[in-house]
Amino acid sequence: MTECIFCCIAGGELPANIIYQDERVIAFRDVNPQAPIHIIIVPKKHIGSVLELSPADKDLVGQIHLAAAKISQNEGVAETGFRLVVNTGRHAGQSVPHLHYHLLGGRELAWPPG
Ligand code: 5GP
Ligand code: ZN
Repeated sequence: MTECIFCCIAGGELPANIIYQDERVIAFRDVNPQAPIHIIIVPKKHIGSVLELSPADKDLVGQIHLAAAKISQNEGVAETGFRLVVNTGRHAGQSVPHLHYHLLGGRELAWPPG
């Protein structure tokens, strides 16, 4: 069993509230939501962060964004608006070393972020 939490969720070894998946992308509700809608969107294959992306992943990144748009519609926040966040490294507070996009919505979000 891999030690990466998001690889375990993608592999079905760890339960999660999965709300979307396709052949390369999976999305599930954050266990500790920071907004009424807080979804985590990840590539099924392990990529540590944006810093580990290679040119071969360009399509995958596009697929994640298309998934985010679809999810925002399914979750009812496309019209009111939402934020996609990719924390990278220590100063950004990345706590899970598997590339993930936070989709946050359902309330007004402050800017600039903390
Ligand atoms: P980061 O801080 O790395 O940008 O975001 C990691 C996110 O993953 C956090 O919002 C955290 O609540 C969420 N998370 C961590 N472990 C789990 C888990 O086992 N299941 C789910 N659904 N979310 C998790
Ligand atoms: Zn992983």
